[in-house]
Amino acid sequence: MPLPSDQDASGRDLGAEEIDLLTQAIESGTLTSTKGQFVNQLEQEFAELVGSPLAVACASGSAAVHIAVAALDLEPGDEIITTSITDMGALAPLLFQGIIPVFADVDADTLNLTAETVADRITSRTRAIIVTHLFGCPVEMGPVMTLAAAHDLPVIEDAAQAFLAESQGSMAGTIGAIGCFSFQQGKHMTSGEGGIVVTANEGLARRMRLFVNKAWGYGDPQPDHYFLALNYRLTELQGAVALAQLRKLSGAVKRRRALADRLREQLDGLPGLTLPTAPPGSLHSYWRFPVWVDPDLVSGGVDTLASSLRELGIPAAPRYIQKPAFETQVFAEQNTFGSSHWPFTLADPTAVDYSPSRFPNTYAGLDRVLVLPFNEGFTEQDVDFIASAISQGVEAT
Ligand SMILES: *Cc1c(COP(=O)(O)O)cnc(C)c1O
Repeated sequence: MPLPSDQDASGRDLGAEEIDLLTQAIESGTLTSTKGQFVNQLEQEFAELVGSPLAVACASGSAAVHIAVAALDLEPGDEIITTSITDMGALAPLLFQGIIPVFADVDADTLNLTAETVADRITSRTRAIIVTHLFGCPVEMGPVMTLAAAHDLPVIEDAAQAFLAESQGSMAGTIGAIGCFSFQQGKHMTSGEGGIVVTANEGLARRMRLFVNKAWGYGDPQPDHYFLALNYRLTELQGAVALAQLRKLSGAVKRRRALADRLREQLDGLPGLTLPTAPPGSLHSYWRFPVWVDPDLVSGGVDTLASSLRELGIPAAPRYIQKPAFETQVFAEQNTFGSSHWPFTLADPTAVDYSPSRFPNTYAGLDRVLVLPFNEGFTEQDVDFIASAISQGVEAT
C-alpha cells in the first residue's frame, strides 16, 4: 500500500465539511470576499486559533509574504535579511518591492536562521528580518527578537510550514510583527492555493488589507487607490474550504505530533542519524520529518539512504531543495525586469556576495538532510514501516 500523500485524497482530509461550506458559498451567489462572509469568518477563526488579534487572508503564501513586506513601506535598495533555504515564494516578493534579500547562513542541524547568523549580516541598510520555521520546527525566537529589538528591526515570520508550532508558549507567526501562512496543496491545511497573515499591529493590518485590495479604501469616507498594490484576494470558494480545513487543523497537528513521537522512539539511537529537534521551550508541528545523515557512519550518506527508501515506496527527498536559493538563476543571473537586473543594481556588493565560504552551514546542512514525507493520515503501521526501512538502510552500511 502506498503511503498517504498530501497531493491527493489518500492524505488529505477533504470531505463533507468542506463540501457543506462550499455549497453554502455557491448558493449564496457571492464569490468575492469583498461582499461575502467565508473569508471574513476564516480570518476571525484563524486569528483566534493562533492567538493573534488580526488576520488578513490572501491568494497564496507568496502573496502573504508580499503583503507583509509591502506593509513595511520600505525604500528600493533597502535590505531584508532572510534564509536561502526556503520557497521562492518567500523571496520573489522582496525583489518585486525593490528590496535586496540578504541571505544569512543557517544552523546546520535545523537549517533555520539563528540570532548569530542574522547578526552577522546586519548593516546600516537592514530594515527587517524574515525567519522561516522550516519543516515545522520553530526558529529559536527569543534571541532573534532580542537582536531585532536592539536594532529596531521588525521580524516577519514565515510560518507556511509551521501551523500551530509553538515557541515559548506562543504560536509560530504571532511572535514577530507579522506571521505568514500558505494554504497551498501540500501545507498543513489547504484550499488548493491561498494564504493568510496575522499581526497585532493595526497599522500593519490596514496596509496589508489595502495591499490585497489594490489599495482601494473599502469603507473609507473618500476611498481612493492610495498606493501601488495588487488584487491578492482569496475567493469565497477558497475561503469556505479553508474554513472547514481550519476547524480540523488542531486535530491534524495533534496526530502529526503523536506519529512523530512514535517514529522518533523507533529511530532513536541509530548510528549516524540525527533526529529533528525543536529548541528548548518550543513545539514542532512536523510538516515534514527531516533527519540528518552522517556520511562517515552511513556509507553513501543521504543519497544511498534515500534510494533505499525510494525502492520501498517511501518518497524521501535528499537535500530538500537541490541548492540554496542564491544559486537559482533569479539570483545568480539577476533575472528580474527585462535586462535591467533591478533592484540588484541598487545593492551594496557585500549584500549580493554569495561566495560559498559565507554559507558553510547552509551547504553542510543541505548535504546531510533527508526529508521524510509526513502526514496525519499515516497509520501506526505506516510509521513502523518507515522506521524499519530506515533502520535497515542505516544498518546495511
Ligand atoms: C509554501 C511556502 C511558501 C509559498 O507559499 P505558496 O502558497 O506556494 O505561494 C513560502 N514560504 C515557505 C516556507 C513555504 O513552504
